[in-house]
Amino acid sequence: MQPLTQLMSQVESNVVPILEGEARRVDLEGLWPAASVKTLKESGLLGLTIPAEFGGSGAGMREFAAITERLARACASTAMIYLMHVCGTQAIAMSGSLKREGALKKIAAAEALATLAFSERGSRSHFWAPVSRAQRNASVVVLNCEKSFVTSAGYADYYVTSAGAVDGKTPADSTLYLVESGTNGLQVSGAWNGIGLRGNSSAPMILRDCHVGQDFRLSLEGQGFKMMMEVVLPWFQIGSAAVSLGIGEAAFASAVQHTSSARLEHLGESLASAIPGIRARLARMRLALDAARGFLDQTLARIESGSETALVGVLGAKAVASEAALEVTDEAMRACGGAAFARQLTVERHFRDARAASVMAPTTDVLYDFIGKAVAGLPLF
Ligand SMILES: Cc1cc2nc3c(=O)[nH]c(=O)nc-3n(C[C@H](O)[C@H](O)[C@H](O)COP(=O)(O)OP(=O)(O)OC[C@H]3O[C@@H](n4cnc5c(N)ncnc54)[C@H](O)[C@@H]3O)c2cc1C
Repeated sequence: MQPLTQLMSQVESNVVPILEGEARRVDLEGLWPAASVKTLKESGLLGLTIPAEFGGSGAGMREFAAITERLARACASTAMIYLMHVCGTQAIAMSGSLKREGALKKIAAAEALATLAFSERGSRSHFWAPVSRAQRNASVVVLNCEKSFVTSAGYADYYVTSAGAVDGKTPADSTLYLVESGTNGLQVSGAWNGIGLRGNSSAPMILRDCHVGQDFRLSLEGQGFKMMMEVVLPWFQIGSAAVSLGIGEAAFASAVQHTSSARLEHLGESLASAIPGIRARLARMRLALDAARGFLDQTLARIESGSETALVGVLGAKAVASEAALEVTDEAMRACGGAAFARQLTVERHFRDARAASVMAPTTDVLYDFIGKAVAGLPLF
């Protein structure tokens, strides 16, 4: 495993320029960022968190968060694709599936991109409760699911998919499967035209009579909920917090740059030097980002030390960072005035991109409810 500083300098010189060069077009045209994902593949980032024995870099959450944040500063759509890929990869890595080794080797060799297909039309943002039900048919399982949002829909090679367990009694009795692209019955069922993260192709997908062998089962039968909560959720929460921080930092940098260079010629000063209110906005942005970063760092430290207090941190990191990104991008829009509104700056893209995290499950509303339950000593579910 390379030291983080070395990894970051490779990302800075090899990956970031491509993402920055593509980000505007990806957003304008709502294009899945093929060139940027190709760069991620070429730089070995798809295998970042895969153990070395399967050809990966064996990195942990701290490296993942730092890299994901840097990607998000350059292109939030690409960072979200990467986040979903790593979450899918972690589910595969922690599974007992016979397909595990082959899939991990393919991902580490940059031959496969993964994603999550959890959210369903019926249970909406309550992804932990799929309303679909898998059926057993001789040696295979038959999946019929309506997935409402799947990042990289139509582009991923591995869809880590939830479905109600065979013979399950409640929606929480679910199972996770590895569904490969090209599986009969798996299809994109709508277009993606989000107001932000316009490149990430988070379109709906349908699984209609998809036959999946038992060796493609990632969780134990009926244990999908456990795997979602214990394996996928922590990576998603930390990665989502990193994406929000990256978007916020990009908005902050753009706001500082604009307000320091745009001039009020009649006063002979820049916006930032002439107007105390603009300086106060910059200050609030900086403080919000630093506070969210501090929370994320503390959470990572708690996870690394195996602290019992890590749960509230894991739940809170996404909520704190996504709300900070909303606040920071709103401040940036106001500080930069009509120039931002008229799309002369990147700020308005960051403003739109930042809105996704708070409605991505678990949404900020749901996280507040979970955290409230946790601190009050109540069961989360
Ligand atoms: C850009 C993007 C990418 C995505 N990518 C993926 C993906 O790759 N894979 C995947 O599985 N899903 C993905 N999703 C889906 C996402 O995780 C959510 O499931 C989806 O955004 C929920 O939208 P909805 O309209 O169904 O929300 P609804 O469930 O209808 O929620 C509506 C509102 O109700 C609030 N709410 C819901 N429950 C509660 C509660 N208990 N207490 C308080 N408030 C509540 C919510 O916070 C929200 O504000 C993606 C979504 C987006 C926007």
